[in-house]
Parts: sequence; structure tokens; C-alpha cells
Amino acid sequence: MRTLACFLLSLALAAQAPPPSTHDLITRVEQSRERRTVERLASFGTRHTLSEAASETRGIGAARHWLSEEAEALTRLPNSRLVSFEDRFTAGPGPRLPGPVEMVNVGMMLPGMDQSRTGEALVVLAHYDSRASDVMDANGDAPGAVDDASGVAIVYEMAQVMADEQPAISIYFVAVAGEEQGQVGSAHLVKRLKADGIRVVGALNLDTVGNVVGSNGVKDNATVRFFSEGLPVQETEGQRRVREQLGGENDSPSRELARYLKRFGQKYVENFECLVMLRKDRVGRTGDHFPFNQEGFAAVRVTETWENFDRQHQTPRVVGNHAFGDSPAYFEPGYAVKVTRVLMAALRQLSLAPAAPENVVLGGAASADALLRWTLQTDPRIRGVVVYRRRADGVQWENTESLGRVESTVLKGSGTDNFFYAVATVDAGGNESLPTAVGRLE
Ligand SMILES: [Zn+2]
Repeated sequence: MRTLACFLLSLALAAQAPPPSTHDLITRVEQSRERRTVERLASFGTRHTLSEAASETRGIGAARHWLSEEAEALTRLPNSRLVSFEDRFTAGPGPRLPGPVEMVNVGMMLPGMDQSRTGEALVVLAHYDSRASDVMDANGDAPGAVDDASGVAIVYEMAQVMADEQPAISIYFVAVAGEEQGQVGSAHLVKRLKADGIRVVGALNLDTVGNVVGSNGVKDNATVRFFSEGLPVQETEGQRRVREQLGGENDSPSRELARYLKRFGQKYVENFECLVMLRKDRVGRTGDHFPFNQEGFAAVRVTETWENFDRQHQTPRVVGNHAFGDSPAYFEPGYAVKVTRVLMAALRQLSLAPAAPENVVLGGAASADALLRWTLQTDPRIRGVVVYRRRADGVQWENTESLGRVESTVLKGSGTDNFFYAVATVDAGGNESLPTAVGRLE
């Protein structure tokens, strides 16, 4: 009886335990688990969308079956709040799909606690399909260890470590299908969320995040790139006019998300720097963040800084003494863990933050002072606002001013011409929303 009483008491204490600090939370990230996920996904030989679907050991079917089982297992962790799902759909024919093919997005949802914001969510995604040199080669080996088992490993590790978190808004952790065949899985995912009435506050697309030796020989395990659109693809004519008046081509919601990830993520990881690239993606290339932008949502691509093109999109082979192919041997878990920690620290804050300000208006053109006003949503968790400012030749926000629960301010002597402005909300715990940039002039 005594043992049972102790057991029950420890359960009660665990239930009352305050949530861990962000620092403590991110130290729970384990590189051995990420390595295991990458090795297991590579072990299916190929995860090409059109590959074998019925085998239990090789091909896309075996991979998604394993991912589903893993997702299910994470829902059974102690105190886990995760809900696993499989979203099955038929895609094609299309440019890289000769006929209709069944695809499955697999993942977990961590439900938000704020009942007034059930229509908002964050999404962390990575694609689990792979490809060989020929994008239509469904049978050849395509281990896809770095592209993109590494991304899936990080998404699953984030879900595992955050399984008992109580975010304000829901977080979807998703392994999507069909990226190499034209971002078919992510396009389905975002349309599905939209149809379900979900507004995506931000999507993090992790694609190719595990290699630290570039094609040029540069070794770099201390930086990561965030790509984001500068001009929203869904910009309206009215927004375009304001942007031209403001010079706001570097302040899209996606760019604010990229800056946010850098600002609140990298401070938790020693000797690590996030690069906010002023591009939507690598030159001439695309990824699973595109469909989110297409639906009008903020999204960022997270990718290692120096890619290795002998490994990426290459059928494993040796030519002379030159090896090609995306083998698990090239996955660097120590690097992936740093990226995981950076993203988790920022994502956690964003998931806890109150609703962002709306309708930020800038006044005071051709005068000494800048006048800013905005609208706060009815969210009772808003304790105050943070006004961000950067000089008009800068990339990152430089100055912040914390104010109470107000809806306007005058920045004396700041003027409007030499600075950009944005406003974020903050709760009692210091959790900040994404900043909302100026969207109107008066
Ligand atoms: Zn990829």
C-alpha cells in the first residue's frame, strides 16, 4: 500500500509540475533518436511516391506504415497530448504523376488550450518521399537520408519532446508525401487545413537539414538558412500600393516569421547563427513552403547552409573514386540537434503567445514624429505590446520598446522615413507574438 501511495503521490506531483523552462525543454532533444529515424527511413531503399506500396520492408508504403506507427507510439508517451492522424488522398495525373496515385500525409496534432483561438495553428512539416537521379525512377535506390529524412527526424523529435506541452494554439507535426512530384502532399495539407477553418499562423518547412559538408568543400555545422518570400504571392492590389509607398518589400508575414525564428531561437544555442536569407528559396528551386504562401499563410523553409549536390537527388553509385547518393553516413546528428533546439525554442514561444496585433497604421509622414496605431484582438492574455523598429538600411529589428495594453504610440523624433516599424503582443510570461508590420498609411 505504501508503494501505491507513493506512486499516486508522484503522479499527483507530476500533474502539478510547472512546465519546464525553454532551456530545459530543448535539452531533452536527443540526437540518437534523430539518427535512428534517418537510418530507419533510409533502410526502406526508396521512398519514391510511385514505388512499391504493399511491401513491409521496401518502398513508400513501408515508410508511411512505419511513420504512422511511430506517430501512434508518441501519443502513448506519459502525459502525451498528441493526437496522431493519417490523411489519405488521391493525387494526379500531373507533370510527375502518370496516373492517379494514393498518397498519405502522416503526423500528429498537439491541441491548443485557448478555446477562443481554435481556428489558428502552427505547422511543422517535412517531406518523407525521396527521389533518385531520374525523378520518375520508382524502383532504383533513393535513400533520401538528408533530403529529407533529416527533416522528418526533426519534426518527429519536436513532437516527442513537446508531447505534453500546453500551447495556446494547436501545432501540427506532419510528414508530408509527394514533395518531389510537385509539393503534392503539402498542397493537400494546407488546403485541408483551410477547408477545416484553420488559419495557419506560421509554417516551418524543414527540408535538407542534416549535411555539414558542401559541394564546395566548406564544412559548416554552425549556421542554418531560413528562406521566406519577400513579396506575398497573395498580395492584393491595395497591399501592393501601400508596400510601394512604404518600401515594405522586406516585411512580408513570412519574412517576419523568419526573423522571429532567428531572434528567439538562436539565443538558446551556443555558437549557432540563423541566416535570414532575402529569398523565397534557393535559386530556381521550390519547396513545401510554397503551397502555404499560395494560400496566403506565412511560411519559412529551413535548410542547411551548404548543400552537397553529389548526394542530393542522386542514385547511389560510384564513378571512378567519386561516390554519389544521399546516404545516412552524411547525416550529422550533432548539427540536426542544434537546428531542432533553435526551432523548438522559437516555436514554443510562438505557440504560447497571445493573438498578434492587427491593422497597424503609420502616420506622421513629413514630420519629426512617427505615429503608430493598431488594433488589439479581444484576447485577454494580451498584457502589453512591443514596438519594433529598425533603420531603413537594416535587415533585423534593432530596437524594441515595451508598452502596456495600448493601441497607439508616438515615437518622438523618430520620423517615418528612416525606419521600419512593427508591433507584437506579449503575455504575462513574456511570450511574444509575431510582429505585425505596418499595413496602412495615413
Ligand atoms: Zn527535399
